[in-house]
Amino acid sequence: MTDTDFPGIAKRRAEILSDLAGLSETPPTLVAVTKTQPDGALEEILAAGQRVFGENRVQEAYAHWADRRADYPDLELRLIGPLQSNKSEDAVRLFDVIETLDRPKLCRELAKAEEKTGQKRQYLIQVNTGEEPQKAGVAPDGVEELLRTARDQGLEVVGLMCIPPVEEPAGPHFALLAKIAHRLGLTQLSMGMSADYDIGARFGATHVRVGSALFGPRDYTA
Ligand SMILES: *Cc1c(COP(=O)(O)O)cnc(C)c1O
Repeated sequence: MTDTDFPGIAKRRAEILSDLAGLSETPPTLVAVTKTQPDGALEEILAAGQRVFGENRVQEAYAHWADRRADYPDLELRLIGPLQSNKSEDAVRLFDVIETLDRPKLCRELAKAEEKTGQKRQYLIQVNTGEEPQKAGVAPDGVEELLRTARDQGLEVVGLMCIPPVEEPAGPHFALLAKIAHRLGLTQLSMGMSADYDIGARFGATHVRVGSALFGPRDYTA
């Protein structure tokens, strides 16, 4: 991406926000996914007023945000990529919300990290709605048990997140996620990306995670 692309970011953000406002009475929060983005793109979207960001990798998130936090105290940082348990403490220090809770061991490590750092964070459970073997997330019938484990460890779980299989329509997956969340009394629903944030909004997403539709195509898949 060249510098001349940056001015388009504010315009695309405004268009996406307007789309979202037209789709739902309570439009989802736009989470701008900044993985692989250069500093110029971050500065441009901050200047446009964006404050909620999603990152896939703990290390890259530090490079992007550790220093900028001081200038933007109202930032909200959300981890949307898989978390190795040995990075739990780093993740708890930086992120406000971790969307990818998916196994008991991670619950234990995050609880330890909260205790050590004195920081309480919020969590979403990632659900593998398509039950794809290679994908992170707990199977739909395992959500309740993981929720219990997380709460036993003192973690504040507020919602669910999913990434539907690429080759399937997203709607049924979002409907399933919403149904499980409703049954368990969880309020946050992180579902919908560049290709399907409109569908997410229609199915009751509270957060949509949008990268390429804001910033243009990434140089490589992260
Ligand atoms: C990269 C990523 C996104 C954003 O993807 P786009 O298709 O570029 O909008 C959303 N969610 C997760 C979990 C991602 O890894």
